[in-house]
Amino acid sequence: MFEASTLEERRRYYREEWNVKELPDFIKKDLNKREFGFDHLGNGPNDRYRIFKTQDMIRRFMRYRSPFAAYCSIAFYNKPWQRGDWLKSELVFDVDAKDLPIRSCNCEGVCNICLNEARQIVLLILDTLRGDLGLKDIHMIYSGRGYHIRVLDEEVMTFDSEVRSQVLKYVSGAEAPKNKYVLENEVDQKPYELEHFLIPFGYPAVFTSRVKHSIMHITGKEKIENINTKLLKDIIKYRNLVEKGEWGLFKNKIGPIRYKNFVESMSQLNMGIVDAKVSIDLKRILRLPTSLHSKVSMKCMEVKNIENFDPLKEAVPKFVMERKDY
Ligand SMILES: [Zn+2]
Repeated sequence: MFEASTLEERRRYYREEWNVKELPDFIKKDLNKREFGFDHLGNGPNDRYRIFKTQDMIRRFMRYRSPFAAYCSIAFYNKPWQRGDWLKSELVFDVDAKDLPIRSCNCEGVCNICLNEARQIVLLILDTLRGDLGLKDIHMIYSGRGYHIRVLDEEVMTFDSEVRSQVLKYVSGAEAPKNKYVLENEVDQKPYELEHFLIPFGYPAVFTSRVKHSIMHITGKEKIENINTKLLKDIIKYRNLVEKGEWGLFKNKIGPIRYKNFVESMSQLNMGIVDAKVSIDLKRILRLPTSLHSKVSMKCMEVKNIENFDPLKEAVPKFVMERKDY
């Protein structure tokens, strides 16, 4: 598993297994407004600015070229052949299993464990996008090494990079929530102190759920800024309290000063859950769903049921199953 595919295997995949009709509808619609890019030799996508007016043109291209990797823009243009006359771009979150700041497997590349942890993070983000932000037109793509969350609600597609980075910080929990609140008619009084875990909605709840995920997956071998080995050990020792929802007790065990530093460190760590470069780049190209991720020999595909998705069952091409060592 997870070995690179040969040119012969790629040819077989695009001739026998791949079907242009399986491209997701959100790609087929307005196909001629997107830029396509290809990597033919495995050196990166340097064949860019390609356009396809019809599905049949893509079908022929993929069959004859059997590219190492295929991509299409998240952007829609009036002149996609020169990335000109930009109209709008999908809002994208890229969760790569290999780059997760905390992974309980500590493997070299990707494995079943970190792919599953990436999927759990995607579920958390999805919940926030739907519940907190009220977004509906959301598509999950298994990329071969992780997941892309692609949002096509019209109201977000015209966001600029600055707004996208604010949304990204919200959904990934990348800022420590404030814990002092002043009531409007009590401006002279001492502010109320309210920790993030006591507020069951809005940003504090998002932050709590992301931190909980990290706490439950820490192995003790991580190097996290401002968290020393002793604190790391204590987090692991007392994390059963977090699992039970007893955050107050957990905070007591850690101690108030160490807890404050811990919250700050976790917010910085959360920044790494999603690849920020991808979310703020309006002209990014992303791996084309249905195409082959040749480095790991997995299918990039739209995931309809993320709750039960198992890439090792659903995203393995036939030629991998027929390899001798499978
Ligand atoms: Zn792993």
